[in-house]
Amino acid sequence: MASDADQHLHVETFLVSAGRPDRSAGSSVNVPVELTSTYAADGPVNYARSGNPTWNAFEEALGGLEGGRALVHASGMGAISAALSLVPVGATIVAPDQTYNGTGDLLVAHEKAGGTVVRVHASDTARFLAALESADLLWIESPTNPLMDVTELDVVLARARELGVTSVVDNTLSTPLLCRPLELGADVVVHSVTKYLSGHSDVVLGATVVADTDRGREIGERLLRHRTLHGAIAGPLEVFLALRGLRTLSLRFERASATAAELARRLEGHPSVSRVRYPGAGAMLSIDVAGDADAAERVCDATRLWLHSTSLGGVESQVERRRRHPTESEQVPPNLLRLSVGIEHVDDLWADLDQALRTL
Ligand code: PLP
Repeated sequence: MASDADQHLHVETFLVSAGRPDRSAGSSVNVPVELTSTYAADGPVNYARSGNPTWNAFEEALGGLEGGRALVHASGMGAISAALSLVPVGATIVAPDQTYNGTGDLLVAHEKAGGTVVRVHASDTARFLAALESADLLWIESPTNPLMDVTELDVVLARARELGVTSVVDNTLSTPLLCRPLELGADVVVHSVTKYLSGHSDVVLGATVVADTDRGREIGERLLRHRTLHGAIAGPLEVFLALRGLRTLSLRFERASATAAELARRLEGHPSVSRVRYPGAGAMLSIDVAGDADAAERVCDATRLWLHSTSLGGVESQVERRRRHPTESEQVPPNLLRLSVGIEHVDDLWADLDQALRTL
């Protein structure tokens, strides 16, 4: 497995070299898919709900990328549930007023169970700082999915740290290539590994990452206990695939981000688009089409290359009207389309999107 020295490599190199078996004559280049439910007694792990060597390889790679210690979970929601379990039922959580809708639903469940959620606009730093004074947990998603609002992470996380408020950042859309929240003072980073990290729309997985400090390790122990006891663990084959996907993260994300920037530029001023929501970096953007929800659905149906589907972060470009889901926040306009830009040629993506928009 990778040594500490590997963590000083450039990220592109680290992605390729991390989580490999030790080299010896005839050794395998890749970690094996360890299909076992139990282990012979007296080893480091006795049962496969607690640990698996294939997980270790992925965790080593993601931990190095985020600058901390990672745990793989059965899904992004599994990771988010573990992170929310860090505070008790009646706790006060400060969160953006619009988040990924699964997170939003869990925050509503927290309120129903007697807890408090203070919702703040993602880019309203002053309100975040004020709300933190009486908070137990700070939740950040930046940019938010799908409104693409950005939070001033360094300022808000630094204040949470000063006040001793536990902080969690959903880093799914930014990836550690754009943002490393642990370096800014976050206690926990969560990921839907399903998205960019694995990148091929073939697995559902999640991860939590904590700092390699006394406080981080203590939080990490609690997350591990939650994963083991609640049992939302990953299949080894899925984790193998995620690690294979991770090898090409920088290539995929760089290409997709460059294309997203160019599409955002071309979409500004398009006659069928009333607003472009692009955070200035990353591979996601949303557009408000000039028309109602039905018009936005017609655009999705008219695309041939863009895959009309939910999810994001795959090599293939995807488009979806988010309000088609009854659980999506009412703050998301009914005519908003979320675009997850893949790695196809920008001109092919543009031609397809443009012809679909022109059907309006
Ligand atoms: N966080 C964000 C920002 C997401 O977009 C998603 C899924 O779309 C999740 C978390 C949940 O991840 P999963 O679907 O892997 O459970």
